[in-house]
Amino acid sequence: MDLADNLEFVQERIVAACERADRSPESVKLVAVSKTHSADTVKAAAELGQTLFGESKIQEAKLKISNCPKNLSWHLIGHLQSNKARDAVRFFQMIHSVDSFHLAEEINQQAEKQSKSLPILIQVNVSGEASKFGYEPKALFEEFDALNELERLEIHGFMTMAPWTPEPEKARPHFRRLREVRDECEQILGAPLPELSMGMSGDYEQAVEEGATLVRVGTGIFGARVRAKDQNPGGG
Ligand SMILES: *Cc1c(COP(=O)(O)O)cnc(C)c1O
Repeated sequence: MDLADNLEFVQERIVAACERADRSPESVKLVAVSKTHSADTVKAAAELGQTLFGESKIQEAKLKISNCPKNLSWHLIGHLQSNKARDAVRFFQMIHSVDSFHLAEEINQQAEKQSKSLPILIQVNVSGEASKFGYEPKALFEEFDALNELERLEIHGFMTMAPWTPEPEKARPHFRRLREVRDECEQILGAPLPELSMGMSGDYEQAVEEGATLVRVGTGIFGARVRAKDQNPGGG
């Protein structure tokens, strides 16, 4: 695994996908998903110029973020329990995974206590898979005005996870659907919702072609993740 080669490879493929879609390469930001990887690995990526990182779990991220250079940006991409909203607001510059009104209210309240506004994305379950977090599109359209009224939240756009598939082209309709959901919410709001967080290591090129502005790439940059089970043999 060579971090520099991987980063360059992913960046080149993003640029090529932008060219195919007639988009500016600056319109896509790469979120390097560092979950399960150490602060030292993040620092190595930072030295190569990567400044935006994604984490899934609050507990893991808190420690890592505290041990990393202060100039980096951190996005929370994993499911958030509302009792952890305080730390999420404290440690992250954006939350991609706002998936219920209750959670949105909790983040709003914590942001108010910390005297800030927080950029967020609303997670949408476009595939309808039962195992996925996120709003069903219909429920989102119904609740969008109420979400928008939460004063400390800045809704920048939407996030989705496509179902896992070995054929990245199968993810494309889900990305397209998220873009359509976004367009409908823009109609409701009467203002732009520019960010679309979609695409992971296996399908970020299709996502960029369909309009992704944030792609979340983990294994494609850092290699395979170490599973908790393997880190702690026999420890359950
Ligand atoms: C882990 C994760 C990713 C990165 O997945 P890779 O396949 O390793 O690129 C992206 N998005 C979310 C929400 C994740 O949990």
